[in-house]
Amino acid sequence: MNFLSIIESKREGKILAPEQIQEFIREFTAGKIPDYQMAGLLMAIYFRGLDTAETTALTLAMRDSGDVLKFPKDKRPLVDKHSTGGIGDKVSLPLAPLLACLGFRVPMISGRGLGITGGTLDKLDSIPGLKTLLPIEQIVAQVQKVGCVICGQTDKMVPADKKIYALRDASGTVPSIPLIVASILSKKLAENLDTLILDVKFGSAAFMQTKSDARKLAKAMVALGNECGVNTRAMLTDMNTPLGRAAGNWLEVKESVAVLNGSTGVPPVVAGVAPATDLRELVLVCAAHLLVQTRKSKSLADARTRAEDCLNSGQPRKKWDEMIVAQGANLKAFNKKLAMDSTAKIVVELKSSHAGFVSRCDARIIGEVIRDIGGGRLTKDSQIDFDVGVDKIAKPGERVEKNSVLARVHAANHAQAEAAIARLQTAFEFSATPKKSSPLISEIIR
Ligand code: URA
Repeated sequence: MNFLSIIESKREGKILAPEQIQEFIREFTAGKIPDYQMAGLLMAIYFRGLDTAETTALTLAMRDSGDVLKFPKDKRPLVDKHSTGGIGDKVSLPLAPLLACLGFRVPMISGRGLGITGGTLDKLDSIPGLKTLLPIEQIVAQVQKVGCVICGQTDKMVPADKKIYALRDASGTVPSIPLIVASILSKKLAENLDTLILDVKFGSAAFMQTKSDARKLAKAMVALGNECGVNTRAMLTDMNTPLGRAAGNWLEVKESVAVLNGSTGVPPVVAGVAPATDLRELVLVCAAHLLVQTRKSKSLADARTRAEDCLNSGQPRKKWDEMIVAQGANLKAFNKKLAMDSTAKIVVELKSSHAGFVSRCDARIIGEVIRDIGGGRLTKDSQIDFDVGVDKIAKPGERVEKNSVLARVHAANHAQAEAAIARLQTAFEFSATPKKSSPLISEIIR
């Protein structure tokens, strides 16, 4: 194959044929195209874009670069949710067991955080004993038996994306809509899903800073998902404010379990955490859309009631335990950890210097604070401190008095905690009267 001529064609804005795309993905995965040439093509794609047929060909070629999950025939639909990522976004954790209890199979292949946005696998790694790197046979067997799994991509799944994503990261070509679409959907298609709901975030801490960019990405993913035979919908959701009241790996697991405990009368083993309403809401809305998309419910209102009744029944909380035990978790150690107020060495409160209403709580600043105290990665190889983070976050629209708690920092030492508190202060603004806050979910793209 003459790869140089492919780079030159794209540089000149020409359309690549599906066969050319399939061939270069095959060759690159096999190590036959050097990184510097692939980086050249990625930059040409960044500037020239890909049309729908090219994006479809790229997505399918990437999916087919490795194993695709194969499930036995079963009346339970295969569903998943994917989020473009944000601060405090832990929806996947309570959602997977809820969906399993609603009669779905959920092969949730998740990722790690990079930079300020958290990753589901890092959150799960804070659970004693739990494994997220599972062989393909175990993924399929667990989905069939338990109904849900949350784990990482195996080395054999979508290897083309692994290699291309690393190159995009190092060549300034991440923010390209066709490359993002192909990257996300190739992985979702490798799960062999029937139905998918996408949470495309916009705002200060999101990949897409503006709603209009998020809409473009969502429309492209919905069109391609449906074209590839997966019933796909997207929600545009606000990521100017953290989701829930906790951000940081272990703290987010605690908040997720609090959502699962909900109003079920399950003993309040989650020390000091009240389930956040926005988080619970997003979990229920994701479940409701999937119920409608799969025709298990006739309307969103019916679906939402069904999801809420299921969550309140306490079954998803039990399903969570079943899921984490199937992945090797030590339940006794997990419950002991849940009952602790903090697992970090130092906990410091940020107190309000004002009385009034919170008008801004900047998710980007909170994400940067957590990354800088060790809760996120600056490079792919950074070691994460699972215990650090921020919780008890006051949200826009809430009334605070002088000296009431705006947030708590969980840190490894005093110096870190002090630096975090100073920076965290700049995340909050206040107003004398409550400002109208923007809706959590602003659009549904079908
Ligand atoms: N997440 C992915 O998996 N790929 C991208 O390109 C962006 C976000």
